[in-house]
Amino acid sequence: MKTNLVIIGSGPGGYETAAYAACQGLQVVIIEEKHAGGTCLNCGCIPTKALVHDAENALGKDDGQALFQAAIRRKDDIVGNLRQGVEALMQQPGITFIHGHGMFKDDHTVVVDKEEIEADHIIIATGSTAKSPPIPGLGSDGQPISKYVTTSEELLARETLPQSLCIVGAGVIGMEMASVFSAFGCKVSMVEYLKECLPTMDSEIARRLRKMMEKQGIKFFLGSSVQKIDNNKVIFKDIKKDIEATVEAEAILVATGRKPYTEGLNLDRIGVETNRTGIVTNDNMQTNLNHIYAIGDVNGRQMLAHAATFQGRRAVNHILGKTDNIRLDIMPAAVFTRPEAASVGPTADFCKANNIPFTAHKAVYRANGRAQAMEQTDGLVKIILDDNDRIIACHAFGADAAAIVQEVSALMNFDVTRQQLSNIVHIHPTLSEILLDAARH
Ligand code: FAD
Repeated sequence: MKTNLVIIGSGPGGYETAAYAACQGLQVVIIEEKHAGGTCLNCGCIPTKALVHDAENALGKDDGQALFQAAIRRKDDIVGNLRQGVEALMQQPGITFIHGHGMFKDDHTVVVDKEEIEADHIIIATGSTAKSPPIPGLGSDGQPISKYVTTSEELLARETLPQSLCIVGAGVIGMEMASVFSAFGCKVSMVEYLKECLPTMDSEIARRLRKMMEKQGIKFFLGSSVQKIDNNKVIFKDIKKDIEATVEAEAILVATGRKPYTEGLNLDRIGVETNRTGIVTNDNMQTNLNHIYAIGDVNGRQMLAHAATFQGRRAVNHILGKTDNIRLDIMPAAVFTRPEAASVGPTADFCKANNIPFTAHKAVYRANGRAQAMEQTDGLVKIILDDNDRIIACHAFGADAAAIVQEVSALMNFDVTRQQLSNIVHIHPTLSEILLDAARH
């Protein structure tokens, strides 16, 4: 078979790109070895957010086990429905969906089983997989993995709520899982090597969010290095005090990050360059071979579903010789804890460390009428300005923080200043007025 474009992987990078490329008139073949929709739809963004929603409703109720089981069933329904939607999208004119493992035969040919597909251009969108640190009990030393250890994918597939959960790693995935499982009544402990959770977020917001989660009953062991996992025991050392401690749990989630997935693609054979963070690409997502592109988690740039989608759009535009004004440098992100936190642009700490001149303006939820009406008065919005009053970042935690940050993202795409923001009429009473407050102080 001959085609214009082959895409390997049908996550939010692959399937969105296939749909966009077909709309632009390209003949596309998309290959998927597991389920249409990739990690995001099947075992990432969507299932976690379904559980986040039900967790909110489970708060304070004593039938956590039954509510969890119902939530898992609802999550499976949502995933099933959305997957059907993606499968239908992949039937649209111009797209051929092939189920199977794709691998390079040469730099213009991808093989699935015995079928060879020759293409002018190829986009690798094979995503990522959970990363496991070299800790005894996790299998990296050739010893068996403790049967209590689970990945986020396995945890989301559980049919019953564990009574206790120990999470190694307080990054985005670990924090969301902690928030969900504790709301259903599971006893959650977190062991984190660094001194604070969510190292990529604004440090003040990370600290305040963690304190709120502690009040919700989640135990944090920060600055703690896991020594080994022995059956249901996580044995770790408090680095500063140099003392060992143990947490026992019915399930142990290792959430220490994700690594690009390039297994079985035959990249060595065709000479596509990779490094520790993934397939090396330029700003058009081109690899060192001009007609081969890599988008999404596999290039390790920003491991987010929307990053994968928009990188794919950039790659197709480049193939078509079109320039676009997609600002891939403005990449908002959120963590859906209770309450949620979100950010776009550099943190104040980053600006300080890199001698970037900035000022920070803050406003708190407590002073906002809508927040009081909603009984959601814990929260903070911080905007960061450059020395021309231009907004370069926003960091927030509290109810609907992701929506507030999304508004700032839109403004940043048009280089809006604090003064201009303070003149934009906002609906009263809404949480978005907290942003106005920040702009005026
Ligand atoms: P993927 O979605 O991983 O898709 C890659 C696809 O390629 C897979 O289906 C795989 O089976 C297929 N594949 C791989 N190799 C081959 C091959 N050789 N042949 C054929 N098929 C192949 N991001 C957010 O933005 N928001 C969130 O709220 C969020 N929550 C998350 C929660 C969890 C628990 C996890 C794990 C991730 C979350 N993410 C979230 C991250 C998000 O899921 C990823 O950034 C996103 O899925 C990356 O998209 P992708 O298209 O690059 O890869």
